[in-house]
Amino acid sequence: MSEKPGTLVLLVEDNEVNAELARALLARGGFEVLHAATAAAAYSMARDAQPDLILMDLQLPDGEGLSVVSRLRADPDIEQPVIIALTAYAMAGDEAKTREAGCDGYITKPFDTRSFTARMRSIMADRSSQKQI
Ligand code: MN
Repeated sequence: MSEKPGTLVLLVEDNEVNAELARALLARGGFEVLHAATAAAAYSMARDAQPDLILMDLQLPDGEGLSVVSRLRADPDIEQPVIIALTAYAMAGDEAKTREAGCDGYITKPFDTRSFTARMRSIMADRSSQKQI
């Protein structure tokens, strides 16, 4: 089973190994993938491409991922995507911080390669069912 065609994911991750792994898993799952490695690129690509889902690393070379999320959530020119934080540490308070910034959830690194794509599909399916209400 593949994600429906045309589901566009913006993957924001500056670590090359993590980015390549996530990109491969998403592509295998049938998602279209764009990749950004900086906060600046993430912001402009989100505006230009209007992705359905953004996977946002929290620590980027030129700033905090959560600052980008806050800016995107406040931007009237963006059709609001699902945003999932990618966090390398499972610290208490992290989830609250990511939700305050406007994330819909988070996943921890290193990625669980066996469940990653299914998790993405389930996130997007939840989004679709919410839209129907
Ligand atoms: Mn990083």
